Amino acid sequence: MCGIVGYLGSELAAPVILDGLRALEYRGYDSAGLAVLGPNGLTLRRRAGRIDDLASLIDEETLQGTIGIGHTRWATHGSVTDHNAHPHADATDRLVIVHNGMTDNVHRLRDHLVADGHEFRSETDTEVIAHIVGLEYAAEGSLSKAVATTLRQLDGAHSILALAADEPDLLVAGRVGAAGGIVVGHNDTGAFVASDLPAVVQHTSEIRVLQANEVVTLSRETAEFTDLNQQPIKRRSMSVPWDPVAAAKAGHRHFMHKEILEQPRTLADTIRPRVTLDPVELELDGFDLPLKATSIDRVVIVASGTSYFAGMVGAHYLRDVAHLPCSVEVASEFAYAPGPISPQTLVVAISQSGETADVLVAVDRARTVGAPVTALVNTPGSELTRAADEVLHLHAGPEISVAATKTFVSEIGLLYLLACKLGVDRNLLGPEELASNVAAIAHAPIAVARALELEPKLEQLARRYHHFKNFLYMGRGLAHPIALEGALKLKEISYIHAEGFAAGELKHGPIALVEPATPIVAVVLDDTMRAKTLNAVTQIRSRNGRVILIATEGEDLHDDLADDIILLPPTPSTMAPMVSIVPLQLFAYHVAVWLGLDVDQPRNLAKSVTVE
Ligand code: GLU
Repeated sequence: MCGIVGYLGSELAAPVILDGLRALEYRGYDSAGLAVLGPNGLTLRRRAGRIDDLASLIDEETLQGTIGIGHTRWATHGSVTDHNAHPHADATDRLVIVHNGMTDNVHRLRDHLVADGHEFRSETDTEVIAHIVGLEYAAEGSLSKAVATTLRQLDGAHSILALAADEPDLLVAGRVGAAGGIVVGHNDTGAFVASDLPAVVQHTSEIRVLQANEVVTLSRETAEFTDLNQQPIKRRSMSVPWDPVAAAKAGHRHFMHKEILEQPRTLADTIRPRVTLDPVELELDGFDLPLKATSIDRVVIVASGTSYFAGMVGAHYLRDVAHLPCSVEVASEFAYAPGPISPQTLVVAISQSGETADVLVAVDRARTVGAPVTALVNTPGSELTRAADEVLHLHAGPEISVAATKTFVSEIGLLYLLACKLGVDRNLLGPEELASNVAAIAHAPIAVARALELEPKLEQLARRYHHFKNFLYMGRGLAHPIALEGALKLKEISYIHAEGFAAGELKHGPIALVEPATPIVAVVLDDTMRAKTLNAVTQIRSRNGRVILIATEGEDLHDDLADDIILLPPTPSTMAPMVSIVPLQLFAYHVAVWLGLDVDQPRNLAKSVTVE
């Protein structure tokens, strides 16, 4: 969500930085700030609110320097205030950083520093990082070394950009884990750095991308990349013509690919503003139901398409965590046959666009009988945000590809938070359980990032399978909706017939379809359903079926169970839906690419379905 921008050159830095921050505004933020290094040293300007509020603080002093860094913040540690906005300075006030990320071990780090006499002026983890960079800088005498050494001490995923008054001709950026990206580029006025392309490509079309566990040191003319041990890395530049669509695609061939790959960050954006680990807190912004959580008699989730499958996962969470009876209804069915609902029924409406006509009609129907409606929406200001009593925003950023990917994962993450919140409010979830649930969800983005590393395998798998005409997908428990969504992705973008079903239903019908020309994708998680799903796989194998197994590792997996096995990274089973969908998204994507189809605009489909 947050944005990082830096400039070092011959122009005045503040206007360049403000422009860059505006180009990143689409990511969402709550505060903005910048620091400029001029003849009188470092000048900081920070403001909770909009970039225009920050712009109103730009005075003569800020308009002196030609080197500076800027930031739009999405608060994770510390409330939304001027003094928590970035940049943050170290203890000497001669070094500043901006930061994207969330530090899991911040309390331990802060306690060490406080014991050594450090004083902090904000509640942010970023200020703690700034002090550590400052100490390392004093020890090492080099800003790039200081950034690298600091990043090695942080748990979690981070991108930082640093500026030191004593090295006035350098900017240093570093990145660990699956934090937001960093791109750099030069033109004849100087060097640009930002967390996304739109802030850079308006100045230069030649860019280089910083990968995880790397540091880049920028001078006016050069960019030197190293790993965290200061070993040099060669990084070639790519040419990105300044075309707003191409810029928005950030170097990816298709929006769908970009959106699949950005899921660790977008999921973190959904979760991060709402949870803290130490102390354990869960806050659903603006969530204030018109009825008490203890008075809810049941929950009905209404949604369509991919959101419906996310709702199926959510129903498991609501039943298991909040002990609420919960059903999931296809919005277009519920709209005309809602069944018995009352003012004690909580209706949860899910729509990426917030404009889905079927969902809007269903919500209208619920409200006529006085049922309170909570909406999960990705598009601020959309119709559903006005129609619902309460709105929970996904914060996944614009989703351009017609086939939904990142919003599916964010919807599941947000439904889990909702289930935990209702569990707490219904006095079912004590502090220890909440702590373990919050820790599990906070680490889900990292597991999603690991699942993305499977992409080369899935590309090869897609190459081998893209000529098949029919696929079956099956899973049980939490893997059932994942199988359904995997099948939907394949049919949406590849036009291949694919059908998902609950693995326990195999013997009640789908087994008649088993034959070598119909591959069966089986999703097997590390949960109580595992042995049963593997039994179904064995039944398929005994009938000459072709099986692709998407499974977490276990002693029960044998080579003869499947033609192909894709091993998922280890994940707590409740989080596995967000992780196990990733290989299915990548498989569908690469099948469509092998078939040469228009991935982002599949035939006959619309992104937001505004007709009933
Ligand atoms: N954790 C930092 C903060 O709360 C950075 C948040 C961000 O990525 O914007 O200030």
